[in-house]
Amino acid sequence: MTLFQKIVAREIPAKIISEDDESIVFHDINPQAPIHVLLVPKKPIPRLAEATEEDRILLGKLLLKAQVTAHALGISQTGFRIVINSGRHGGETIPHLHLHLLGGRPLGWPPG
Ligand code: AMP
Repeated sequence: MTLFQKIVAREIPAKIISEDDESIVFHDINPQAPIHVLLVPKKPIPRLAEATEEDRILLGKLLLKAQVTAHALGISQTGFRIVINSGRHGGETIPHLHLHLLGGRPLGWPPG
C-alpha cells in the first residue's frame, strides 16, 4: 500500500477535507503555503508519467475537484496553483499520483 492508500484506509491520520468514490482531499502535513492541500485519486497511479488514456476522465475530475476545493477554501478569487511532481527531477517523493493545491499567498515563479 502507498502512504496515500493508508490514509484512504484510515491507517494513517490526515486532516481530510473531502472524499468520494474516486478520490480523497486532505491537508499536506508539511504545508508550503497557507493553503496546501493534496488531491489524491484512490487508484494508485504511480505518477503522471505513467497515467494512461484510461485515466483521462479521472484526471479531468481531479482538476475540477481542485477548482471546487479552491473555491471552498476561499482562494478562488485571490488565485492558486496546481502542481504535479512527476519523477526524480520533478520532485516526486510519494509514488502515488497527487495534485498539490497551493494558495493563500503570492507564489513565486519560476519554481525552484
Ligand atoms: P510529492 O513530493 O509531490 O511526492 O508530494 C508529497 C507530499 O506529501 C509532500 O508535500 C508531503 O509533505 C506530503 N505528505 C507526506 N506525508 C504526508 C502525510 N502523512 N499526510 C499528509 N501529507 C503528507
